[in-house]
Amino acid sequence: MGHVDAGKTKLLDCIRGTHVQEGEAGGITQQIGATYFPAENIRERTKELKVDAKLNVPGLLVIDTPGHESFTKLRSRGSGLCDLAILVVDLMHGLEPQTIESLNLLKSGNTDFVIALNKVDRLYEWKTCPNAPIGKAIRQQSKDVLTEFNMRLTQVITQFKEQGLNTELYYKNKEMGETYNIVPTSAISGEGIPDLLLLLVQWAQKTMIKSLTYNEEVQCTILEVKVDEGHGTTIDVVLVNGVLREGDQIVVGGMHGPIVTSIRALLTPHPMREVRVKGTYLHHKEIKAAQCIKIAAQGLEHAIPGANLYDVGPNDDTEVIKKSAMDYVHKVMSRIGKSGKGVCVQASTLGSLEALLDFLETPAVNIPKDPIILGVDVVKGIVKIGTPICVIKSEVVDIGQVASIENNHKPVDSAKKGQMVAIKINGSNPEEQQKML
Ligand code: GDP
Ligand code: MG
Repeated sequence: MGHVDAGKTKLLDCIRGTHVQEGEAGGITQQIGATYFPAENIRERTKELKVDAKLNVPGLLVIDTPGHESFTKLRSRGSGLCDLAILVVDLMHGLEPQTIESLNLLKSGNTDFVIALNKVDRLYEWKTCPNAPIGKAIRQQSKDVLTEFNMRLTQVITQFKEQGLNTELYYKNKEMGETYNIVPTSAISGEGIPDLLLLLVQWAQKTMIKSLTYNEEVQCTILEVKVDEGHGTTIDVVLVNGVLREGDQIVVGGMHGPIVTSIRALLTPHPMREVRVKGTYLHHKEIKAAQCIKIAAQGLEHAIPGANLYDVGPNDDTEVIKKSAMDYVHKVMSRIGKSGKGVCVQASTLGSLEALLDFLETPAVNIPKDPIILGVDVVKGIVKIGTPICVIKSEVVDIGQVASIENNHKPVDSAKKGQMVAIKINGSNPEEQQKML
């Protein structure tokens, strides 16, 4: 988790040896993705640290998140989805609005986390030591680099203190558990990655045996619904507990009622690959938690991301399960008006749609009745007052007002990539504008 551009996706790319980040629209994460890192890879990546800690965990399932608010919703809803978080902070920027938001979310969910203080390679005259443990890399640096590093580190520690948290470099931390660990990293040259992986595994093994213990009862959350070539509409899910098998009957809440179907194929990306990225999949007869799985089945077109997936056992009452599955859907749908009048909101995922609705309902956003307001995720470039935009067909209108989530919902002059904004369109005839949309 962390602010947009802190380097979350790039860090995972660095661990995987992939280039997901470069393939993203405007370089920002629009969807949640997940990757499984098997224990062998973690052992390989951390061997330079020469700790013969036993790896008891089978691996790590890491979930990448979009930096903006949309994930807040998915995350808080799917509570229990993650056991441990990595809060990524840009060393050059310190704590940013979504860093603080993530932090508050972690605090309120009582989720433990480590801090990756990323982009150490951006320190002036940093000497690159590819994939080296951070201690070794730091020993190679000049006095000036260390001075700048220490200054920036102290600033970040102070900023965390202002949020009520004690933090310290992990190898100096004498009060693990009370003082949060900071691991300096570079997602570009890989310094500190061994430390980050080892710390995650050791910390998990030491403190969360209970919550990590496998539970038979299926606990499964839908991350995305998408059409996949050769498989039709599929759902990407995170299986937190239990086992899913090919042929299992499942129930998920859908836009038009409960969907009862059976699993046609259980697919996973290859280890160390992202589920978001198209590629070949491995087929499985059964999969045990925790894993990120792509499920192919009939009738998934109207499934809803963020909802739970229920596995129907031989003694389960399908009607009861159908009702539970729809409770969630009703809650979400009750907030969406379909009169075709008023504010028009469009978003790439249900998570961001909810976030935008929340934003637009905030009293601080003074939404006049008439002018058309658009709620948008900024994917690329800059949105600013006066920019002509084309909404649909070839009609061009001017942006009259932009309000940003990050700026306490106050009007701003412009918004850039990664922000979510409400846009008021200039123009005198609301009816005409309504037609355009
Ligand atoms: P996210 O929004 O947190 O997922 O951030 P990205 O992974 O998309 O990274 C944002 C930008 O920062 C990209 O241009 C990356 O290449 C760059 N970046 C990420 N990590 C590092 C790092 O450790 N060092 C440097 N120099 N650039 C980085
Ligand atoms: Mg990203």
